[in-house]
Amino acid sequence: MSAYPPASAEIRKLIKAAGPMPVSRYMELCLTHPLYGYYMTRDPLGREGDFTTAPEVSQMFGELLGLWAAAVWKSMGMPNPVRLVELGPGRGTMMADILRAIRVLPSFYQAVSVDLVEINPALIDRQKETLRGTKTPVAWHDSIDSIDEGPAIILANEFFDALPVHQVVRLQHGWHERVIDLSASGQLAFSAAAEPLKHFDLLLPPLVRASPVGAIFEWRPNAEIMRIGRRLRDQGGAALIIDYGHVRSDAGDTFQAISRHSFADPLRNPGQADLTAHVDFQALALGAEDAGARLHGPAEQGDFLRRLGIETRAATLMSKANTQASADIQSALKRLTGTGRGAMGALFKVLGVSHPELKTLPGLSEQPPAETAAPGADA
Ligand code: SAH
Repeated sequence: MSAYPPASAEIRKLIKAAGPMPVSRYMELCLTHPLYGYYMTRDPLGREGDFTTAPEVSQMFGELLGLWAAAVWKSMGMPNPVRLVELGPGRGTMMADILRAIRVLPSFYQAVSVDLVEINPALIDRQKETLRGTKTPVAWHDSIDSIDEGPAIILANEFFDALPVHQVVRLQHGWHERVIDLSASGQLAFSAAAEPLKHFDLLLPPLVRASPVGAIFEWRPNAEIMRIGRRLRDQGGAALIIDYGHVRSDAGDTFQAISRHSFADPLRNPGQADLTAHVDFQALALGAEDAGARLHGPAEQGDFLRRLGIETRAATLMSKANTQASADIQSALKRLTGTGRGAMGALFKVLGVSHPELKTLPGLSEQPPAETAAPGADA
């Protein structure tokens, strides 16, 4: 018997057998190992859990995204059927709020079928419970690839931050993969691969290339955003990606554990805490564009929600509420759109991706494709 909890024992065994493992592999094992992974074993959300997300803060979030989706569907030419896809739907709260909100537009409501991409068995059960009673057909998938063809509106809130991230560290002779090794006393510890990654700096944005020794840069494989981009390009539709992160690629270490609503050491209690890293929206945008999709935004979440009318919606709800409920709506509004401590308005960004012919998406400014942005290029 090992003295360590199962995920920790498994990771130590792998490091002893095969040597230090990249941060991305560690994150993948901690989150999605079929037996011990954090996301395979529990419902992490809510006051009793480890973190709270925007749809759990207020019904206004999902309702506004429902109206956003309805407007997008109209500008897509009102295809029937249309797939409403959510990546990492948590407790199903956002989808339930969306479906309730879009009932005011029966032609859209009746055209929709829902596809949820989820790997967490506990959350799938929770989503089934939340969506019980809905008349809309709902199907579950473990990957976006198994969703039927057709035009789609794809939503992802706090999904990309949970996908494994690579870290590289700048040392004297170049960039090295940041790895996790065992210290002399047998504890998990950060280290750097002995050899630098060949030609890695050629892939980096100039700002990051100039980083000093000791700087850390994080990057995620493009596979997921490319899948989304290709699907939208080939079959039509739009995607909305909402997450905490930065709009320009930059150096910095954002790899963190979140446990019981506080930051924790990511190397302690593997498999027991949520592991995340900020989302690099510039990298996402480049991936989507490479796949042939059009970009919109990014915008800060606060600005995006205000443009969709969250203040009016809050006022309407407050006019029907008692004093306590009214104060709760006010504080939810502040949390979703504000910029202070614990508020999501500026930390979270919103990126739109669409079929090339969909020129605008509500709440997001148009971003010209890179080739037409160059001076003198043909529009
Ligand atoms: N969108 C929800 C939940 C965010 S938490 C909300 O805003 O409340 C991250 C979600 O992504 C969870 O549902 C988690 O189980 C799911 N998830 C994490 N990694 C995943 C993966 N690789 N594939 C599919 N779903 C994943």
